[in-house]
Amino acid sequence: MVVNGKGPYDSQNIFAKILRGEIPCAKVFENDWVLAFNDIAPKAPVHVLIIPRNAYVSFMDFSSTAPAEEIAGVMQAAGEVARHMGLEENGYRLITNAGRDSGQEVPHFHLHLLGGKALPAFPI
Ligand code: C5P
Repeated sequence: MVVNGKGPYDSQNIFAKILRGEIPCAKVFENDWVLAFNDIAPKAPVHVLIIPRNAYVSFMDFSSTAPAEEIAGVMQAAGEVARHMGLEENGYRLITNAGRDSGQEVPHFHLHLLGGKALPAFPI
């Protein structure tokens, strides 16, 4: 189901449940700011979702309401995950879907980290 990417935040969304440990995930990295885990339906050899620990509906919400320290923390963590996944040599793509036109399905802000092969040109 495509979501509008705006509030209110639904604390029953699937990533909120993963963060609370109510649903398992294939974790690849975590720190104070984020949890990162393999996408359940990978679109590339490496397809990791990077999600903030705090509750943001989409990038619209995150970019306009998160403290600068947290925005920096999440973006630095995304780079760390890419290094951790061995993607620095050949490169990668980092994308986020925000709101209806993007096709966002899960109403908790997340970055898709894609790599491990030469990715098709946009649109992916
Ligand atoms: O950006 P968007 O909201 O469309 O992406 C949601 C992503 O979450 C999808 O790539 C989907 O495969 C993934 N997902 C997951 N584990 C779930 C539910 C969705 O990895 N339990």
